Amino acid sequence: EPAIRIRDLVKRYAATGKAPAKLALEGVSFDVPRGEIFGLLGPNGAGKSTLINTLAGLVLKTSGSVEIWGHDIDADRRNAKAAIGIVPQEIVFDPFFTPIEVLDIQAGLYGVPKHLRRSMELLRAVHLADKAKAYSRSLSGGMKRRLLIAKAMVHTPPILVLDEPTAGVDVELRRQLWELVSELNAGGVTVVLTTHYLEEAEQLCSRIAIINHGRLIANKPTRELVGMA
Ligand code: ADP
Ligand code: ADP
Repeated sequence: EPAIRIRDLVKRYAATGKAPAKLALEGVSFDVPRGEIFGLLGPNGAGKSTLINTLAGLVLKTSGSVEIWGHDIDADRRNAKAAIGIVPQEIVFDPFFTPIEVLDIQAGLYGVPKHLRRSMELLRAVHLADKAKAYSRSLSGGMKRRLLIAKAMVHTPPILVLDEPTAGVDVELRRQLWELVSELNAGGVTVVLTTHYLEEAEQLCSRIAIINHGRLIANKPTRELVGMA
């Protein structure tokens, strides 16, 4: 069974005062096999965030089906949600909390029992143990991104999803984040990430799907895809 199974996924945004109606996903189907670092590559406006936000439950799909770790996101939302950790693009935590508090609060929200909480261990995994008690607002941009990754992992999901994890970060930090994602994957986590950097997908991902104008136009192991270029 794949980590994620997506079939005939369609998303049509209704027209608003700000924007016309938009068919953002036009019937997308693919599997994310377990154990991969799966890259969803495509230009701005291709539909990457829409797809990720559908997995996260932030966007309501128009039609089609999504299963996460065997759990249908409509029929079995609770288990589907438990199987996935989402790292959003924007930095979302209270800047006055310390990293350890951010993780403890998130664990509480997810109902992780106290004896199973592992906030310190997670901070070590993202190389932030020495900042456990700093104000989060004092962290560098890269540290904040690493804290967001730890936050997505508090309920120990088997799948980690990152939306443009390295958008707007410098080369050094990009490499650090790649290394961290690889470490988490080596520890058994299936990773799905979106990117519009071909180099990022090539360096980091074991499999790449290319999305454009709301359609999947390729889906291959990275070495096959790169061999074609
Ligand atoms: P990407 O993440 O690949 O840049 P998005 O999923 O953000 O692409 O957007 C796909 C298309 O859907 C774009 O044309 C975008 O403008 C449009 N879109 C995204 N969100 C909305 C929304 N809330 N309402 C209307 N159109 C949207
Ligand atoms: P992305 O990094 O995916 O390209 P954007 O900057 O396009 O993100 O979009 C940021 C936010 O604005 C998202 O929540 C997206 O759903 C929303 N959005 C994007 N395009 C539109 C649109 N045409 N109309 C309304 N909301 C939009």
